[in-house]
Amino acid sequence: MKVPLLDLHAQYDPLMPQIRQALERVLTDHHYIMGPQVKELEDKMAAYLGIKHAIGCASGTDALVLAVKALGIGEGDEVLTTPFTFFATASSIWRNHATPRFADIDPRSFNLDPDKLEAAITPRTKAIMPVHLFGQSCDMTHIMEIAQKLGLAVIEDNAQGIGCTWNGRMSCSFGDIGTLSFFPSKNLGAMGDAGMCLTNSDELAAKLRQLRVHGENPKYYHKWVGLNSRLDTLQAAILNVKLDALAAWSKARRANAAFYNEHLADIPQIRTPFIAPEAVSIYNQYTLVCEDRDGLLQHLQAREIGCAIYYPLPLHLQECFASLGYRKGDFPIAEQLSGQVLSIPIYPELSLEQKQYVVDAIHAFYGGRN
Ligand SMILES: *Cc1c(COP(=O)(O)O)cnc(C)c1O
Repeated sequence: MKVPLLDLHAQYDPLMPQIRQALERVLTDHHYIMGPQVKELEDKMAAYLGIKHAIGCASGTDALVLAVKALGIGEGDEVLTTPFTFFATASSIWRNHATPRFADIDPRSFNLDPDKLEAAITPRTKAIMPVHLFGQSCDMTHIMEIAQKLGLAVIEDNAQGIGCTWNGRMSCSFGDIGTLSFFPSKNLGAMGDAGMCLTNSDELAAKLRQLRVHGENPKYYHKWVGLNSRLDTLQAAILNVKLDALAAWSKARRANAAFYNEHLADIPQIRTPFIAPEAVSIYNQYTLVCEDRDGLLQHLQAREIGCAIYYPLPLHLQECFASLGYRKGDFPIAEQLSGQVLSIPIYPELSLEQKQYVVDAIHAFYGGRN
């Protein structure tokens, strides 16, 4: 048996007739830049998440770059975020000539710890950028309390969390701007790169729309230096078809997680994901904290079970950020977890036999050690 980390064949097979039809329409109209499918996706996504404005762009990374820019954050400003995330979270701050600053994470949820966050705020801090890692919302009650108390903006990096909730409220709806990625491995993936910003602010929405087309309005008049970052019409056509399946996919991921939780509970050498009582996760990843992680990784790979380390090196220790002056030991929880985490297959189309095979393989690895 083979269990890939993600199976795009299984995901696309049932949808291909509809996707081909949607693409055919774009290929007939030749409206490749900002075609009607982009607005259709923005409207559908705004309705799905219950947020007033959705602004499509070229990637999840660009969505973050645009969000930082729209809030007027730049040279001399600091943005506080987590070191335990994908690189783009911090690079979006850097690329706006602002300074990424980090605070350590909660060891159970892997998300920013609000207490440590508050301690890391300086007079230069302009915004907080929480990341809803692996599909679970951060503690947005406390993060919003801190932000409101200190007058800070909040950008939710929701690349991994589309549709996750905190106290019943959708991610992306707490902060000033929320961002999505439609990278193929995200819960809603395009057939290439695409992303989106969400906001309830009319003013920020107008600015984001302008910034994604070179800061231009009216045509050939530029108030700001923006990006060339539109969401491709072909990708929007694909995403319009796939969005209809998203809620069912998230439910299937939760059912898979429940199976693993039950069948891995008796292994003392691993810890299954902790989901806060306030949170409903969409499980972009199902991430174990393991004893002898690298041994387990090799054992699973030898049995053709896809697995991956998200993330092996926290961002404060990345070579490109050396000038920020962080050292090993600054964020011990993120550093320790980077040596212990392992994500295993959780995609919606997993069969019962595949899940059982994964569970048996993990039992076999630790079984000989008790
Ligand atoms: C995927 C991801 C991004 C970047 O999205 P792209 O669409 O790949 O540019 C940003 N932040 C996080 C947390 C991500 O997982």
